[in-house]
Amino acid sequence: MSQPKEQKPSNLLDKIVSLCKRRGFIFPGSEIYGGLRGTWDYGPLGSEMKFNLKQSWWKYMVQDRENVFGVNAAIMMNPKVWEASGHTQAFTDPLIECKICHERFRADKHEDIKEHEEMHAKKKENPPTGGGWTEPKQFNILVEAKLGVVEGEKTMVYLRGEITQGVHVNFKNVVDSMHPKIPFGLAQIGKAFRNEITPRNFVFRSREFEQMELQTYVKPDEVSAMEVFSEMKNIRMQWYLNLGIDKNKLRFREHAFDERAHYARAAWDIEYETPWGWDETEGIHHRGDWDLSRHSQFSGQDLSYFDSESKERFVPWVIETSGGVDRALLFFLLDAYQEEKDRIVLKIHPKLAPYKAAVFPLLKNKPELAAKARQVFKDLKMTSLNIAWDDRGNIGKRYYSQDEIGTPFCITVDFQTLEDGTVTLRDRDTMEQKRIDTKDIAKLLEEKLK
Ligand SMILES: [Zn+2]
Repeated sequence: MSQPKEQKPSNLLDKIVSLCKRRGFIFPGSEIYGGLRGTWDYGPLGSEMKFNLKQSWWKYMVQDRENVFGVNAAIMMNPKVWEASGHTQAFTDPLIECKICHERFRADKHEDIKEHEEMHAKKKENPPTGGGWTEPKQFNILVEAKLGVVEGEKTMVYLRGEITQGVHVNFKNVVDSMHPKIPFGLAQIGKAFRNEITPRNFVFRSREFEQMELQTYVKPDEVSAMEVFSEMKNIRMQWYLNLGIDKNKLRFREHAFDERAHYARAAWDIEYETPWGWDETEGIHHRGDWDLSRHSQFSGQDLSYFDSESKERFVPWVIETSGGVDRALLFFLLDAYQEEKDRIVLKIHPKLAPYKAAVFPLLKNKPELAAKARQVFKDLKMTSLNIAWDDRGNIGKRYYSQDEIGTPFCITVDFQTLEDGTVTLRDRDTMEQKRIDTKDIAKLLEEKLK
């Protein structure tokens, strides 16, 4: 937002991890049993913030736009899906993994390996002591599950390794039921699972994570495809900026040719400057007709599209934008965290904040104040806003507590409220206080959420 954002500690990631645990945003998965590596559980405030983030994405990417529809596909899919997508092919050969960037190579591709080492050397990136590569292994990035009730007759399925395929396998169903005009988009938000060898950096890379994606189906011609591609780049960057992230900490990066999937015709990342360096929050990819033609080939179904305007039949190309929900949430937290003289404050956008306001009675032990404050609290809870209640400690402690979880406004009911119906409204970012009529609070808060 408008305040400068320079008050960052050097161990910022540790501070965020600690705040998330202490204040109920994110906990280590299955913690009372010693945890489960690469998993995280969202607590009361984290699940509110994650919900807000997804809702903001859905509104901006689906509901605010024409010709964009949502799907919500099953996590367990027919194993053939992953043959078609190429995910199961990749683990027939032993692979080694680069310890610097975690990219995997076939162990017998000596030329590629050498070239990759030279690329890191040129960027002055050194492998950890003990060598730059893992031992050759049969990697299976997909998480396996067994489906069925009779032991010995269970079918092996995979938990989806990406949400993309759940959209493409429904292409025909959506075309037949919604009759969309090309270009059109199919969006999905949902969980995906990967056997990450090296989960790291809190929720940035974990084994169970959530993705938010839009697949735009376009005519198979390079000019209109690239138009949609650059439009998508702008739209996606704008979403982060609209939610108040520091624009100097975001950038586009084009994938080098050897970083791209073999079918990708263009690939760019949106990166955020994290405490561990610039890293990916989202990828925008021109996937050509790879997805639909592969699924057509493996399923035997016709996945072409008939354009009633041009009277042409073709297999559409796909422009994909694929973002991580958990990593976006982490980047918003990193970006919002500030240590000021007397407080820690999360200057997150009101749209993302778990609570939009907190209501306090000035004094807990005055029944008439407590009753009035309860009334203000209940009235606000009847709106679409999520509101907190706090009557512990003194006002200063309550402000401190709400600042640390990013609550944009604090509302104090005092003796004057009983006389004229006004309350003290205190702003998180400026710490300014003003009197406002109780009946104007909801309108003012809703204004801030636009
Ligand atoms: Zn590498």
